[in-house]
Amino acid sequence: MEKYIQDVIQHMRLKNPSQPEFHQAAEEVLTSLLPALEKHPELKEKKILERVVEPERQVIFKVAWMNDQDEIQVNRGFRVQWNSAIGPYKGGLRFHPSVTLSIMKFLAFEQTFKNSLTSLAMGGAKGGSDFDPKGKSDGEIMRFCQEFMTELYRHIGEQTDIPAGDIGVGAREIGYLFGQYRKIQNKFVGVLTGKGVEWGGSFIRPEATGYGATYFLDEMLSVRGEGIKGKRVAISGSGNVAQYAVEKVNQLGGIVVTLSDSNGAIHDPDGVKDEKFEYLLDLKQVRRGRIKEYAEEFNVDYFKNSRPWDVDCDIAFPCATQNEIDKHDAKQLIDSGIIAVVEGANMPTTLEATEMFLEQGISFGPGKAANAGGVACSGLEMAQNSMRLTWSPSEVDARLREIMKNIHLLAKETAQKYDATLSDGRIPNYVVGANISGFTKVARAMIAQGLF
Ligand code: NDP
Repeated sequence: MEKYIQDVIQHMRLKNPSQPEFHQAAEEVLTSLLPALEKHPELKEKKILERVVEPERQVIFKVAWMNDQDEIQVNRGFRVQWNSAIGPYKGGLRFHPSVTLSIMKFLAFEQTFKNSLTSLAMGGAKGGSDFDPKGKSDGEIMRFCQEFMTELYRHIGEQTDIPAGDIGVGAREIGYLFGQYRKIQNKFVGVLTGKGVEWGGSFIRPEATGYGATYFLDEMLSVRGEGIKGKRVAISGSGNVAQYAVEKVNQLGGIVVTLSDSNGAIHDPDGVKDEKFEYLLDLKQVRRGRIKEYAEEFNVDYFKNSRPWDVDCDIAFPCATQNEIDKHDAKQLIDSGIIAVVEGANMPTTLEATEMFLEQGISFGPGKAANAGGVACSGLEMAQNSMRLTWSPSEVDARLREIMKNIHLLAKETAQKYDATLSDGRIPNYVVGANISGFTKVARAMIAQGLF
């Protein structure tokens, strides 16, 4: 069976050249499925692996728009609709200059299994553009979003594919995208999530990924007989996920000692809390400034062009982007004595670094389980849109907490069922647990629905 998995990986690599991020994501999932394939040989007979590494549809389109100097700009747009066996396609849009088909495919592939773990009926997709929102005026952002939606609208719909935000796509961009969809289609429907609460959005959606990942961390620590209280937490990023991870870690008594953006990292050993947290929200959400300004304002260390992993901490909480913890960073974190890594971002840890953490018996919460709170809350937004109801913040938060608890339990029990535990047998291998449980539900639905 091991050879069969390696053959599928080899074929996938040859068929999709120059897509390293997609190769990495697919390899991580496929290799961890070995115990499930040994137990269920029908998965091989039905060629589920060969089918699941192929997206159902991938759309690439041109986005031409006008900047403030009346110059024509051309970007590339993407929507990769990976798998709709368990529900309509669902997944965010990323606007960042690094966006390529490989990155869209890795994210859509991961999203499929993440959505499956939430227990809500959502298939997997991802989209975006190589457009760089940094330094653009409001008018430029609006015109770009309108042109992007002028093509995207024909591929999505409230029963077909429901995008949301991701890096570079927050409340402002969702507003412009939704407005253009509504204008073109003359329909007010829940075709996007992450909408403003006054026009169909859900309370807690902006907070959901950061809160949810912290709830997942709390569950992982409780398995070790520990809690967040008093723990020093190194967070990377300072965007949507990082901000609300900071808030929830603070609420649960932890101390957030780092933050970063693409220019560098800050180290604040006293913790990003109280007025410093309020400053962070204003800096990033209102003024759209750089994290360096936090260091200047509060007189703490700033490390230019650095990642935040070279500090004393108990927990690493990457919330910026893919591959931001490599084996060198992993060694630093292990030497610092960390007990847990929780992935707020998608695939922030390289395969080698993940292996190092697992070998050391460090509780490792993979993104597809740990950061599923965002899409889960998007699922709750879809439910509210269908019922034309708005649940209160406490009701949504309670549902989010419950969903994260269940995802943790599912990943833990699946890991135990397949004998995938770390060093002393007490700590579950959540990578194996999450991959197998996310995958088997999708695989069963594909088999039940015929050739798909
Ligand atoms: P934001 O755009 O709000 O914030 C991203 C943060 O990461 C910023 O601080 C940004 O810095 C930093 N960053 C981005 N790219 C790089 C890079 N190449 N190197 C260093 N820092 C970088 O995005 P989100 O917070 O929404 O997303 C963060 C991660 O979480 C992503 O991996 C995303 O896929 C994942 N995620 C997000 C969900 C959501 O609901 N938003 C749901 C599940 C996962 P700068 O401003 O300088 O670019």
